[in-house]
Order: sequence, then structure tokens, then C-alpha cells
Amino acid sequence: RPPRERKPDWLRVKAPTSAGFAATRELMRSKSLTTVCEEAACPNIGECWSKKHATVMILGDTCTRACAFCNVKTGMPRAVDKLEPQNVADAAAQMGLQHIVVTSVDRDDLPDGGASQFVKVIQALRATTPNTTIEILTPDFRNKAQAAVESIIEAGPDVYNHNLETVPRLYPTIRPGARYYASLRLLESVKRHDPRIFTKSGVMLGLGEERLEVHQVMDDMRSAEIDFLTMGQYLQPTPRHAKVLDFVTPAAFDAYAAIARAKGFLLVASSPLTRSSYHAGDDFARLRAA
Ligand code: SF4
Ligand code: SF4
Repeated sequence: RPPRERKPDWLRVKAPTSAGFAATRELMRSKSLTTVCEEAACPNIGECWSKKHATVMILGDTCTRACAFCNVKTGMPRAVDKLEPQNVADAAAQMGLQHIVVTSVDRDDLPDGGASQFVKVIQALRATTPNTTIEILTPDFRNKAQAAVESIIEAGPDVYNHNLETVPRLYPTIRPGARYYASLRLLESVKRHDPRIFTKSGVMLGLGEERLEVHQVMDDMRSAEIDFLTMGQYLQPTPRHAKVLDFVTPAAFDAYAAIARAKGFLLVASSPLTRSSYHAGDDFARLRAA
């Protein structure tokens, strides 16, 4: 299919200018923290940062993989920063966060894939900001997944998120370093080890997937007892990345959301600008209050 060139109006966002945006950026810089908001060139950065929502990316800004949709740089990452767990916790405290999303680059170079740093971040957050709910968005940890998941679950995050990103047919071109069923099994094992932890996953649309393939992904997710689903429009970060093949309309996102709810997901976020962490705290707080 030929790529789509021009962004439709529903994807236009305001430039980030608010005082809240500047304050969040200043805080992240002062704590030497990286955010996925900036590294992934997220279109929601103006809105999220003005409301002090940010997704912290631990374990550096350089990834050992090179997914075709992702703007994070690839290469040999730096050594793990021992101060990072407390810096994340201090930033959460200073921002007064009710909910924090912590993600990381893939660190296939580390013996544990970076799992122990997730554990330390969760522990630092629990000690510093005990009322902040914690959502982690992890890599697949490749062949270290079992040990990694067990140690992270032991630390007790509230939400365990891992994105399937796209339909299995597109993995070889879009997510070449990963395996669809390995990612599903990872989430399934979180639920099996501790059913109190909410599990979450997401897909990007517009990469050439068919509607029935998306429905099948939803069924696979529900078979793995995944609780929350996010769906958003893929946007090409630079001309070197995978091309956008479709701009999915807001109505089509709504139709997917209705189907997902009928399939039993507890929380569904589905719109062109939905990202894995978009409104994550607000949605989770509403669910807990219900
Ligand atoms: Fe950051 Fe997520 Fe908001 Fe994007 S949607 S700006 S990644 S918190
Ligand atoms: Fe980006 Fe994650 Fe892929 Fe690394 S593994 S390139 S951070 S999507």
C-alpha cells in the first residue's frame, strides 16, 4: 500500500508553551532523568507536561534494539546510574504525582536485562512517595523474562504494562527483535504470579494491520487475562522510520473501543492521540474509585 503523507486535522496539537511544561522539563534536567515523552517525540507532550504527567525512561537514552517505529537512539548504552532510582522518586515527590509511569530502553547488554533497576526504582518510590501508584512499562527481557518478571512482581508495582505494539504478521518488519507470543506470555505470567497486579498492553494502528487482525490481538490479550488496552495512531518520527499506511479515523478508534469493552477489558483508551501512558493516572484513579 502507498504511504499516507498528510496528517489529518484530528492529529494536530498545540505547540508546548505553558509554564507547567517548562517546569517539568527543568525538573527532569535537574535530576538527570530522561523521559519517553521527549525521546519518542510524543505529540501529547504539551498537554501532559503542563499537567505534570511525564513518563520516565530509566536505564539511559540509548537502546540495544532498533524497532522500525521508535525514535529512541540505538547503540551501546552507558553504565547503569546508581543514583537514578532515588532521582526518580525525588522527582515524583517534587511533582506530587499520584501515579507514575516508569519505562526503559531495552538493555539486552545487561545480565538481568535491567530488571534490578526497575526493582530499585519501585522500592525508592514506595519509600519516598508511598501514596503514588506505580505503573511500569517494561521491555520483553528476551530469554531472561521469567527471572526478570518474578523479581519485578516481588517489588509490587500496581500496573504492569508491556506493549505488543502491532499485529503478529508485522513483527518481522516493525518489531524485529521481539516475538509476539513471548510478549503475550510475559504478561500472562505476571497475572499468574500475582493476580492483584493489573496488566496492560497496547498497539499502534496505521502500520498496515487489518481490522480482523486487531480483533484477534484483543482476543489473544484477553486469553492472557490482560486488563487494560491502549490503541493509538502510529506517527512516523522521522523519514527513516516505518511509513504511516493509514490514518485511522476517530470513529474507527471508537468502534475498536466498543469491541474491546465487549471483550472484557477493564480499561480501554482508544483514540488517535492515545499513547501507552496517555491519561494513565487519571484512568487508573477512576477505576480504583469505582
Ligand atoms: Fe509522555 Fe505518555 Fe504524555 Fe506522551 S502520552 S507526553 S509519553 S506521558
Ligand atoms: Fe524503542 Fe523499545 Fe524498540 Fe528500544 S526496544 S527501539 S526503546 S520500542
